[in-house]
Amino acid sequence: MTKNRKRTKIVATLGPACSTREIIEEMMEAGVNVFRVNFSHAEYDDVAEKIKIIREINKRRSFNVAVLVDLQGPKLRVGVMGEKVKLKEGDSFTFTTDKCEGDSEKAYMTYQNFPKDVKAGEHILVDDGKLLFEVIETNGKNEVKTTVLRGGKLKSKKGVNLPNTKISLPALTEKDIKDALFAIKMEVDWLALSFVRNSEDLIKLNELVKENSSYKIPIIAKIEKPEAIENIDQIIPYCDGIMVARGDLGVEVPMEQVPLIQKRLVAIAKKAHKPVIIATQMMETMISSEVPTRAEVNDVANSIMDGADAVMLSGETSVGEFPLEVIKQMRRIIESVENSPLISIPNQAVFSVNERFISNTICHQASLMATTINAEVITTLTNSGYTAFQISSWRPKSHILVFSSNRRILAMLNLLWGVKGIYYDNFVSTDQTIEDINKLAHEKGYLKSGDYAINITSMPVKDRGMANTMRITEYK
Ligand code: PGA
Ligand code: MN
Repeated sequence: MTKNRKRTKIVATLGPACSTREIIEEMMEAGVNVFRVNFSHAEYDDVAEKIKIIREINKRRSFNVAVLVDLQGPKLRVGVMGEKVKLKEGDSFTFTTDKCEGDSEKAYMTYQNFPKDVKAGEHILVDDGKLLFEVIETNGKNEVKTTVLRGGKLKSKKGVNLPNTKISLPALTEKDIKDALFAIKMEVDWLALSFVRNSEDLIKLNELVKENSSYKIPIIAKIEKPEAIENIDQIIPYCDGIMVARGDLGVEVPMEQVPLIQKRLVAIAKKAHKPVIIATQMMETMISSEVPTRAEVNDVANSIMDGADAVMLSGETSVGEFPLEVIKQMRRIIESVENSPLISIPNQAVFSVNERFISNTICHQASLMATTINAEVITTLTNSGYTAFQISSWRPKSHILVFSSNRRILAMLNLLWGVKGIYYDNFVSTDQTIEDINKLAHEKGYLKSGDYAINITSMPVKDRGMANTMRITEYK
């Protein structure tokens, strides 16, 4: 078996373009690590069927491809519009919360408190920001009068962004709660929450998971609102990873600010030892073209250099014409840049005496040592995945092999940079365990005679305690 050299992960969104077993298996083979189910457009029966297929392939091929369920959150939309509504700059236009078919003078707005929450002067963006309106006045009940600042075609059910408005909608809509309960029942590996504004939003989702599942499903906070950027320090401790959701983010803040926000968010996530996904329009032209643009290749490459754990595909795999080819292209970009010595992710070790400091220190030093001695692998045993988050965030120049008897943990960790999960349940003695896992690493193509492995263990092994020991092994 050959070693899979790619360490930056690929998240691919499921959709009609990748709905057969054959294409899903080919995509997994080509390098997909996580499939995203986007609950803005998904049917339960169909999702259940896809998850079954992914898990069957995982089992048969010894993959650990994870499933991430992305909850829509308080996404706002306009209602049904009549045929060919086109607005031009300077027109007057009304948003109403009374149900109606829209025309060139008005549109239905799904968000009922809109006239109460909005203020004169605030901006309304529709259809990914293609149309822009300025609020002139609100009657506080059911109507908001605006002027068109940027016109265009206004089509049915398009998304609405209100970057400056303090929206009084709950973080979890009724639909989100239903979708989350379905995801819990399906035992998915990650949940993502859209339009997170503060830590409270995440606490609510965490509580819902806690009440309904004995397994703690980790949560990705999607950063796509200016409020989330302001509140990032309080958000980070309450999530297990973040997504730089550039689609909505680039509408809610001026899009020229997104590149620096991306760099800042990646650095913050790495400091907190949490994974970060870069999302949206990475290979956008490949929805209908067989090759990406040079700019897209640069974007993927630069995201990896910034320190992304994973790069995400949306329309490219869900509705695009080349769902398999785009994975292959993305993989080639990843492989050609991620081993560059020019990439170093700045991350300062902070020594603080807490209940995890022994394990944290071992993980950090193992990562430094892996680079110094040119070790092929760092191995670690885990029940919770904790050490994998730590090691991965230091970006060692080696593969991170994580051994666990919990298949769910192995799949969950598949989102993290450099982490490869291997099933192992024969915990007898340290000597035996190290021998076993190095042999497994060899069988999987990661170690050959003369290579170095750094083995992180916890002694005594049978206690399955915190990582406290590190050993260098020359593989014979
Ligand atoms: P979405 O999230 O595709 O669910 O909107 C990603 C983004 O906004 O970039
Ligand atoms: Mn979004």
